[in-house]
Amino acid sequence: MANKRDYYEVLGVSKTATLDEIKKAYRKLAMANHPDRNPGDKAAEERFKEATEAYEILSDDKKRQAYDQFGFQGVDGAGGAGNYSNTYRDFSDIFGGFGSFSDIINNMFGGGNFQGSYASGGYDSGEYHGSHQGSSIRYDIAIDLATSIKGSKVDITYNHYVKCPECDGSGAEKGTNKITCPTCGGKGTVVRGNGFFQMRSTCPKCGGSGKIIEHPCKRCNGSGVEKKRETIKIDIPAGITSGSRILQRGMGDAGINGGPSGDLYVYVTVKEDPNFVRKGNDLYCKLPISITQATLGARVEFENITGEILSIEIPAGSSTDKLLRVKGKGVNPQNTRLFSSKGDLFVRLYVTTPSGLSSRGKELFKMLNDEIKSEIRPKLMPYAE
Ligand SMILES: [Zn+2]
Ligand SMILES: [Zn+2]
Repeated sequence: MANKRDYYEVLGVSKTATLDEIKKAYRKLAMANHPDRNPGDKAAEERFKEATEAYEILSDDKKRQAYDQFGFQGVDGAGGAGNYSNTYRDFSDIFGGFGSFSDIINNMFGGGNFQGSYASGGYDSGEYHGSHQGSSIRYDIAIDLATSIKGSKVDITYNHYVKCPECDGSGAEKGTNKITCPTCGGKGTVVRGNGFFQMRSTCPKCGGSGKIIEHPCKRCNGSGVEKKRETIKIDIPAGITSGSRILQRGMGDAGINGGPSGDLYVYVTVKEDPNFVRKGNDLYCKLPISITQATLGARVEFENITGEILSIEIPAGSSTDKLLRVKGKGVNPQNTRLFSSKGDLFVRLYVTTPSGLSSRGKELFKMLNDEIKSEIRPKLMPYAE
């Protein structure tokens, strides 16, 4: 159930990073955390291993593609991308009727819906194809920017298949056992044809396992699994970026015939905020000030995205678009042990002009206009959005 960090996050690179950027990021991390340089430092060793694993995947085109598509499941285990084909084979077995790869993916990552994999795989018949890992499930959540910055615990409710509690996943009625398949005599294969041509194929009755269920469990009809709607708490780490995945290991669909459970991938989308924009770990906002505050200088207060009240000094003679930096008030990512750069908050000033002035107000501005030498033909400035 431990959260495994996204490989891009581990290396601190973007999803579109080039191989060069990935190499550079890894070299930096490997140098800093190499066990030879940090004897006895378990945390450094862990970081080193984590970075190495991430590098192994992201530096290999095929593995990276598999990871991008499937998440950890696409590259899990010692074989890395080698496992890719296993995954494919397993799923094509499970989903028997599905032909194309994209169908399988759609089926796997059905956008939080029920996959219907068990139903389409023919498991209700009680005929098994050996053991398989359960499907992984994708669940999408959208959180607002403030939540992503502060971090939070979020409840999600989703459907998945769990082991049938009555038969503990065996599919056989309590107190009964599976029996040797009468069709193949337990060999799992049958021979067809006679004379010169003989073909050995997987036993259609037991699907190759050599055993069948004589008395299927009444609760699950011999499938060994049942649907369950479950609510679990997801830990959203502070500073999480849009597009991140949070892995909940083993929280996907239950495995078949003793196979391991699939995983649950929570895909996080961070919604746009009307007032704040995040760039890296820095935040940007726009602060309106009056023309007199801009001219004379002032101390003004405003609420940061976290709800904290900040006070900043506007220097005298500030114009619109002047950028003021409030150090350390940007994003402070919880998981970034290596790039522990706390972001800053950038405040862009916007000087407002009063309208609907009283006659006294207008009089004062006329006096001001006489005082300030306004140019008839001002020099143009570079245009920027
Ligand atoms: Zn059962
Ligand atoms: Zn058989």
